[in-house]
Amino acid sequence: MQNILNDIILSNKKCTANGKVASYIPELKNANIDDLGICVIDKDNNIYCAGDYKKKFTIQSISKPIILAMALMDNEWHHVFSKVGMEPSGDPFNSIMKLETNDTKKPCNPMINAGAIVTTALIKGKNLQEKEERMLSFFRKLAKNNSLEINKSIYESEKLTGDRNRAMGYLLKNDGFIEGDVEETLDLYFKQCSIEVDVVDLARIGLLFSNYGIDIETGERVISENISRMVKTFMVTCGMYDASGEFALRVGIPAKSGVGGGIMASVPRKMGIGVFGPALDEKGNSIGGLNILEDLSNKLELNIF
Ligand code: GLU
Repeated sequence: MQNILNDIILSNKKCTANGKVASYIPELKNANIDDLGICVIDKDNNIYCAGDYKKKFTIQSISKPIILAMALMDNEWHHVFSKVGMEPSGDPFNSIMKLETNDTKKPCNPMINAGAIVTTALIKGKNLQEKEERMLSFFRKLAKNNSLEINKSIYESEKLTGDRNRAMGYLLKNDGFIEGDVEETLDLYFKQCSIEVDVVDLARIGLLFSNYGIDIETGERVISENISRMVKTFMVTCGMYDASGEFALRVGIPAKSGVGGGIMASVPRKMGIGVFGPALDEKGNSIGGLNILEDLSNKLELNIF
């Protein structure tokens, strides 16, 4: 496995030159475009890392499946899906269009920004501080890493410039999909996106979903089997922005990407995978990350279809 990962990183390193680092959140511009790293943790808890695996980056939209799991644990499912849909949007992650043109005006799914703002509003807690503490401790539990923290400068950068998300938040409140204080919901949303991780953290989280919510080391059930299944299903249908169909065909692994350059992938009953490469394609997916996952899927026959 180690040799396979070393080879895959080496052969895909050059394609990072074809992408661009996200810049619409000003602080993300500081990433190093050439970085490329991977971690695989298999079902026997063997950990394999290659490339720039020590680099830290913000989780960004990879927080969305985790917040979905939390919203489903905090609420009745029918309540959650009365506020957010189950269908791919086919639009960019930050599109506002279907909130007006859909018959129901409901966000299409929880993997796009509008849907994730809704699931964030469903997180329970008596005030913002309690919600933030609950959220961070859930991320830490999934990653089995108590040192996960919010990157303050990225959070502030995003909060300062996140007017498109702010617009969506107010529209969603107006149409009855979120209740309570919009600014508080957005604050929690910006914070979840700014949690700093590395590829090992992502592989751990992917492994938990791949093992249907049971921690393989302790045997503890962290997330129900059904919720784990739902989250992986959303990852397949909506996890890779509006390139989810092509990714399902080329790679065939449940995965979720973020504009920080990370991808968290979960191969049912086999392994969790974290990859990082901040050079993004025009849809917002890591160029190196996509190629690495395609090569790995082919080499190890990981395609679930
Ligand atoms: N924080 C980012 C935003 O809301 C997340 C986008 C992403 O990673 O897809 O714009």
